[in-house]
Amino acid sequence: MLPVVAIVGRPNVGKSTLFNRLTRSRDALVVDIPGVTRDRQYGEGKVGPAPYIVVDTGGITGNDIGVDGAMADQVQCALDEADIILFMVDGRDGLTSVDQALARQLRIMGKTAKLIVNKTDGADPDVQAAEFYELGLGEAYPIAAVHNRGVRSLMDEMLEGY
Ligand code: GDP
Ligand code: MG
Repeated sequence: MLPVVAIVGRPNVGKSTLFNRLTRSRDALVVDIPGVTRDRQYGEGKVGPAPYIVVDTGGITGNDIGVDGAMADQVQCALDEADIILFMVDGRDGLTSVDQALARQLRIMGKTAKLIVNKTDGADPDVQAAEFYELGLGEAYPIAAVHNRGVRSLMDEMLEGY
């Protein structure tokens, strides 16, 4: 069984761009309109030491997080089947309340996610990543998916032991 890597995060942070990098495909729609990837999207790939299955999700808007803390169904499914969860945020936008709500939800669900700070191509990656530490997800992995920067070393770390 290949490890399953799920990419979650609010819309427009760059999940599908990373999916394309990880599968070297153009399968996932990448556009500027938030929420365009409506359903889960699966691909196989091998960037780094071991092959994997990667799941792209449509992203969660604040509206999907109800009073009971329920997540959008498709994201819930992706989280349930994942061995590795990549929780992506946008380094250009900075920390948002939706990011905070998602991190809280992951904690409630007992899911361990890796914090991926994307779009670190415009400024100092470490400075951009710093403000996300308060999400309580530990060390941040800065990448710039659109330039394939940091993607290989991210997968080297994620797939260690697989
Ligand atoms: P998704 O909604 O999370 O799947 O986000 P997309 O992958 O569709 O990307 C949303 C927008 O962010 C697109 O215009 C991408 O080209 C852009 N984007 C993705 N990765 C990067 C990056 O590393 N740097 C910059 N500057 N833009 C990016
Ligand atoms: Mg997408």
